[in-house]
Formats: sequence, C-alpha cells, structure tokens
Amino acid sequence: MDDCIFCKIIRKEIPSKLVYEDEKVLAFHDINPQAPVHVLIIPKEHIASLNDINEENAVFLAHIGRCISKIADKLGISETGYRVVVNCGKDGGQAVNHLHYHLLGGRSLSWPPG
Ligand code: AMP
Ligand code: ZN
Repeated sequence: MDDCIFCKIIRKEIPSKLVYEDEKVLAFHDINPQAPVHVLIIPKEHIASLNDINEENAVFLAHIGRCISKIADKLGISETGYRVVVNCGKDGGQAVNHLHYHLLGGRSLSWPPG
C-alpha cells in the first residue's frame, strides 16, 4: 500500500524507533505513548484490520502471538504485566488502517477502558 503510513515505516521511508524486527513483523515505539511502554507490533504484510484476517494471512497473527512475550521481555515488562490492544474500525478507535497491536505497560493500567 503506497500511502499507508505503517507500510512506509516497514519500507524505512519513515523513521521509527525500532524494538524488534523479523521476516514477518515489525515492532516500534508509538509516537504518542499512552503508557511508559507503548509499542506497536505490525505485520509486514498490509492487512487493514482484524476484519481482513483470512486463511492466507492468519499466519501473521499466529506469529505476532509468539512475538508478544519476547518483545515484552525485551522491554522489561513481562514480570510486571502488560496489556495488548487491537482497535478495529470507527467505534474501536482505529486511526491507522494497517493492523497493529498496541503493547502497553510500565504502569498499572485502568480497566475497563473508556
Ligand atoms: P489506532 O488508534 O489503534 O489506529 O492507533 C494508531 C497509533 O499509531 C496511535 O497510537 C499513534 O500514536 C500511532 N502512530 C501514528 N503514526 C505513527 C508513527 N509515524 N510512528 C509511531 N506511531 C505512530
Ligand atoms: Zn500498510
């Protein structure tokens, strides 16, 4: 996707503070952090949202699932705990239409969310 901001980050056309990268995913610090640790984990293939998961691309979800604890560990929050959030669509508050997992931690997070 030419005009997708996260695809541009994947192609290194836009700078990001990288935390983790492999052949399927990228993780980088959120530009507007909502917690002391706020990292976005994204598939390297453009998937617009959770509504667009199918048999072919579900492998990216499985892979992100395996990466979460590794990234949390690297950021020092696996023992204290963290939250993973995926916003989907208008009511879910999704602003960027490239699937992304928010990994939040470093403080006690309130629940329920607003
Ligand atoms: P969402 O509202 O779930 O779509 O979240 C989009 C997130 O992307 C927000 O938390 C933004 O702060 C973050 N964001 C937008 N542009 C960038 C960027 N260039 N680098 C890092 N994070 C970004
Ligand atoms: Zn994209």
